[in-house]
Amino acid sequence: MMFRATILTLYPEMFPGPLGISLAGRAMAEGKWSCNPMQIRDFATDKHRSVDDTPAGGGAGMVMRADVLGRAVDHALETNPAAPVLAMTPRGAPLTQARVRSLAAGPGVTILCGRFEGIDERLFEGRPIEPVSIGDYILSGGEMGALVLLDACIRLLPGVMGAPDSGDDESFEAGLLEYPHYTRPAEWEGRTIPEVLRSGDHAKIDAWRKAMAEKDTRLRRPDLWERHEGARVKSPSGARRQKKE
Ligand code: SAH
Repeated sequence: MMFRATILTLYPEMFPGPLGISLAGRAMAEGKWSCNPMQIRDFATDKHRSVDDTPAGGGAGMVMRADVLGRAVDHALETNPAAPVLAMTPRGAPLTQARVRSLAAGPGVTILCGRFEGIDERLFEGRPIEPVSIGDYILSGGEMGALVLLDACIRLLPGVMGAPDSGDDESFEAGLLEYPHYTRPAEWEGRTIPEVLRSGDHAKIDAWRKAMAEKDTRLRRPDLWERHEGARVKSPSGARRQKKE
C-alpha cells in the first residue's frame, strides 16, 4: 500500500524538498509513498487569487480565509478520501511518536500549511481537521512542520528502514529517551567507551542502557519522566509498561 501525502500550501515548490533525497527519497522512488503538493491559490475565486484578508477585530498581519481553504480541503478529501486532514498550527496538540506511528500505519495524510497570522478558526469547525503543532516555538509557515511530520512517518513505512526492529528502541518509543551511543575509535581525546559496552555481556549491557535511558530522561526531560513514572504507578501489575507490539 502506498502512503499518500497531500500537502495544501502556498509554496508547493518546497515539496518534496529534503524528502526527495536519502531514505525518504529512495522510498518515494520505490513507490512506498507519494508526494502531492497542491497550490492553495488555485482555490481562490477572485482575479487576484487572494487567500488571505485582514484579521477581524484588528491587529497585525493577515489571516487565511476559511472559504478558500474549505475548497482546498474538500478537493483533498476527494482525491485522498481515506487520509486524515491535519493542519499545522502552534495551537494544535503537540505531535508525538504515538501519533506518527498511527498515521504511518494508515493510507496517508493531508496536511494544511498555514502562513501569515494563521487560519480562520471557522475552518476547524466546518471541516474534520486535526490541529497539530511540532513544538512550542513559532515557524514562519507550516511547510517545515509538514516536512518534519512526513519524515517521521516515512521512516516507519514497511521496508523503508533497514532492520524491521531498528525503530523499537528509539527515544519516545517506550516513553523514555534512548540510551547514549558510542563507536570506534576506542579512545578519543583521552575519553574511552564505557567498559560495560565492551564486555560482551548482553544482560549487563541491557541493564546499563536501561539505567542510562532512565537517568537521562529524568535529568533532561522531567516532563517525560513524570509521565513515564505516572504510567508505571497506574498500571495494574505495578510492573514496567509492556513493550508495544
Ligand atoms: N499567529 C500564530 C502563528 C502563525 S505562524 C500564533 O501565534 O499561533 C504561521 C504558520 O506557521 C501557522 O499558521 C502554522 O501553519 C505554522 N506554524 C508556526 N509554528 C508552528 C508550530 N510550532 N507547529 C506547527 N505549525 C506551525
